[in-house]
Order: sequence, then C-alpha cells, then structure tokens
Amino acid sequence: KTGAEQHEFSAEVGRLLDLVVHALYSEREIFLRELVANAADATDKRRFEALTDAALALPEKAGIRIVPDKDARLLTISDDGAGMSREELASNLGTIARSGTRAFGQKLDAAKPEDRPSLIGQFGVGFYAAFMVADKVEVISRKPGTDEAWEWSSDGKGAYTLSPATRETPGTDIILHIKSDADEFLDSWRLKSIVRKWADHIAWPITMREKSEDGNTEDKVANEGTALWLKPKSEITEEQYTDFYHHVAHAFDTPYATLHWRAEGTTEFAALLFVPGARPFDFMEQSRESKIHLHVRRMFITDEANLLPAWLRFVQGVVDTEDLPLNVSREMLQSTPVLARIRKAVTKRVVSEIRNRAKPVAEGEADTGFDGFWENFGPVVKEGIWEDSEHRQEIAGFARFRSTHGEGLTTLDAYIGRMKPEQESIYYLTGDNHEALMASPQLEGFRARGIEVLLLSDPVDSFWPERLHSYQDKTLKAVAQAHGDLEKFEAPEEDGEATDLAGLIPALKEALGDTVADVRSTVRLKQSAVVLTSEGGPDLAMQRLMRRSGQ
Ligand code: ADP
Ligand code: MG
Repeated sequence: KTGAEQHEFSAEVGRLLDLVVHALYSEREIFLRELVANAADATDKRRFEALTDAALALPEKAGIRIVPDKDARLLTISDDGAGMSREELASNLGTIARSGTRAFGQKLDAAKPEDRPSLIGQFGVGFYAAFMVADKVEVISRKPGTDEAWEWSSDGKGAYTLSPATRETPGTDIILHIKSDADEFLDSWRLKSIVRKWADHIAWPITMREKSEDGNTEDKVANEGTALWLKPKSEITEEQYTDFYHHVAHAFDTPYATLHWRAEGTTEFAALLFVPGARPFDFMEQSRESKIHLHVRRMFITDEANLLPAWLRFVQGVVDTEDLPLNVSREMLQSTPVLARIRKAVTKRVVSEIRNRAKPVAEGEADTGFDGFWENFGPVVKEGIWEDSEHRQEIAGFARFRSTHGEGLTTLDAYIGRMKPEQESIYYLTGDNHEALMASPQLEGFRARGIEVLLLSDPVDSFWPERLHSYQDKTLKAVAQAHGDLEKFEAPEEDGEATDLAGLIPALKEALGDTVADVRSTVRLKQSAVVLTSEGGPDLAMQRLMRRSGQ
C-alpha cells in the first residue's frame, strides 16, 4: 500500500498476544464483548466531548454495527465514536499502557495451562482478543472534526502497519479476517446470542446485519439496551443482576452484596451497586478513586464522579439521576450540590449494608460471609479509620482483627468483653506478617498475664490506631509503649531464681552509649533476655515504614 509504514509491537504486546491467542481457546467468544465494549466506550467519549464542542456532536442514529460477511470471511464492528489519530492507533494498539494489562500478562504467564481460562475471566483482555478469532485485523479510524483517516493493520505476529485511509464519517471500523476454524463467528445467529449474553446492557443500539427472506440484508437491533437499574426489583432475576455486575465491573465472580434502590425526596436517583465477592487481581495497583458510573436519565456521563469515598472504592455499579441536566459539564460535576447529596446518600446506604452484614452471627443463624469480605477488602476499609473522620468510629466497630485470643477474627467489642477488670487499654502489636507477630518477644509479658493483644499485619495498620485513639473509651496502645502498664497486672509465677541485674544494666548502658535512650529491667519478658521498645515516639513499625520511604 502507498504510504504504509511497518512498526514492531512492543515486546510486552507480542508476549501478551501470544498468551491471549493460545491460552484462551475455550473462551474465544469474549473477543466480541471486548470489541463492542470498546466501541461503546468510544461513543460515550465522543458524546461527552461534544458537550463542550458542538462540532463533535454524534450523528442522530449513533450506535454500533456488526456486519458478518460469510463469502469474504470478514466480520466488521463499526462505531461512530471518538476515533483514533495515527499516534493514538500506534500507542493504544501497539503498546501496553495500563499496568493492569501488564500484570495480567505476568499472571497468565505463571499460571498452569488448565487454570488460564478461568484466570482470563478476571481480566478484560481487550482489543488483542480479536486475534483469537482473526488471522488479520484492520482498524480504520477517523476522529470527529478531522478529514483524515488512518488504517492500522496486523496479523498479530510481531508487527503492524500504519497507512493513510479514507472513511466517510468519523468513527472506527474493526475488520476481522476470520480464521478458518472460527466459522461460527460469521453466523449472525451465533453473534446475536453472544451480544445478548455479554452486551445486552449497553445503552447504544447494537445492530446485526442479517439476510432477510427476500435475499436482501437488514440491520436488526440485537441488544435490549434496557437500563436494568430502572426496572423494579421484582422483575429482575439473580442471573440478570450477576450478568450486569460482570459487565460494569469487568468481573467474573458472584457479588458478595447487591444493593438496588431508588432514592426519593430532595435528591432523586436510582442506584444499583455491587460489593464484589473476590478481590480483582490488580486491585492494589488501581487508582484510589471510586469508579461508580454516573448516568443522567440513562445516559452514561462519567466514571470519575467519585460517588464513594476512597475506602469504599471496591464497590462497583451505577447511579442514575434526573436531577442533573444531560449536558452537564466537567466543571459542574465538580461543584454541583446535587452530586454532594447523592454521594452522601450512597455512602450512607453502603455503610449501613456493611454494618448489617458485620453483625456477629448468633448460634443457628446463617453466616453472612463477612469474614471472606473482610479478607478481600478489610485492608482498604481500614484506610477509612485513618482518613474518614465521619465514619472512623463506625468502621472500628465492624472491623475484624486477629489477636492472641485464638485462631479466628475478633471485633473490638469482643476484645473489650474479654479485658481484665483492671485493664484500661486495647493493646496491639504491628508487624509485617502474622507469623512474625506471633513469635514476637514483645508479647511475652502480655501472654504470661493472660492479656489479649491485637496482631496487626496490614501496611495500613501502622497508621490508623493512633488516629482512632480510642474505642468505647478504651485507648489503643501499642505494646511497645505499654511497658509501664504491665506492673498493674498480677505477675506470673516465677520459675527459677530472680536474676540480679544490678551490675549488668550499667555495663549495657556503657556499651550501647548513644544508640539507646535508656536500659531498664522489665517484667515484660518471660523467655527472651532483651527487647527493644520505644516510648512516646512513633511506633516501631511506623519507624521502619518511614525509613523504607526514605524519610
Ligand atoms: P481498554 O479498553 O481496557 O483500554 P483495549 O485493549 O480494549 O483496552 O483498548 C485499548 C485502547 O484502544 C482503548 O483504551 C482505546 O483508547 C482504544 N480503542 C480501542 N477500540 C477503540 C474504538 N473502537 N474507538 C476508539 N478507540 C478505541
Ligand atoms: Mg477495552
């Protein structure tokens, strides 16, 4: 072709392509979900951009078109969306920008072949999934507001070409040259069933080209496009909820909780939210912002409206309101009191759901699975104790902890119920992992006196206890700083003779010099000879954390 330039894929793309194509054989149909989702994203994007620039406005019948051509063995997916420039084609389809995709490649690499298909379910493999069913993919794209179009083309084997092209209207065509063993994906009936399964909730019309009785072709709408969240609960099946969750969250698990309600009063909105049943593999690498989708009268507006605080960012779903204009601007999204009210109401509802599920299960009652939820998201929820003053005490109330009391998880209330009569503080020890904590000499004096200690090993645990300060009038105290407290409690039986330390302590002080503030004898230790402590200063683990980040 004239003007065609050859480019190499980045090494990572090459590897990912290989994995996707070979590992996902049994899940090939998801390529269509990915391409339709991209087309819908691009259409949403153009619609949003057009709010501030009328020249970019969508055509009246904007949508997504799927056209199978059995004779030519081509499957084309077209949209009227935001398109891609030459540079965007090269960077979006030739490199891996998102860390999630990179992490996915690494995970898939490491997984056993039989585990790969289920692993795949957890990720959106995106555009590259096209190469599962096509031995060549062409992308023709034109951005709204420009005349020039570009073509990206590749056989998925290490290189792609970019060349000038023509396209009558702005938007993108993805043209798949269907592999000889993938005939099923040229069949409009089969394609329609895939759209029903994976893309029914997409609000833009998705049309399928079909042969009609008279031999002509006809484009028929293949998706329902109903906004599930606006339907009454009684008309929605469990399966529909789960399918929708998979769609909004790009997830494959069964949600732990589904919250569907309509708020009426000063602010009116419908919400359909999900607490995931599993932690996404790249969760800790994702941004700390809530990705709840904001819709206005069914239309997707943005997933950057921060509808929930950061410590609830694992919650997924949709909020739809009539109280904002359809042409809401970015500036308005930042300042409108409507959103502030919605945020408040949505947060309240989610917090109360978590609180209800956190109630300790009575004998004979069904387990709410809260411990599993806590395993997945507890470390994130605890960020709220640190930064959300409004909910700090409430979160502390439903939080779960490991402790020296036993195997399972405990609440602070249960801990308080087990406190010694003369005990005034909740004692805790922070460290890198549970095993190290269990073996810590810091616990000896507490163990010997039967005093329970919380064992905190999540990174965030170095921060929140000081912020929380106290719970139910009991102060939280790091064991390293609770040195003096132990004398209040009855000392354990001494075995063997008491050692006279009178001569040793001055000798130690002399030897250690300025490296320590003091050397003292203690009742805290049973087996160990010495222990390092800090009094007044920040907790030891915090000191270590600060050292690691170079402070
Ligand atoms: P993701 O959608 O998760 O970002 P993909 O691999 O599916 O990852 O797509 C990569 C990028 O390519 C998208 O983020 C988008 O910028 C671009 N892209 C893909 N398909 C289209 C399309 N139909 N129109 C415009 N841009 C697209
Ligand atoms: Mg995508």
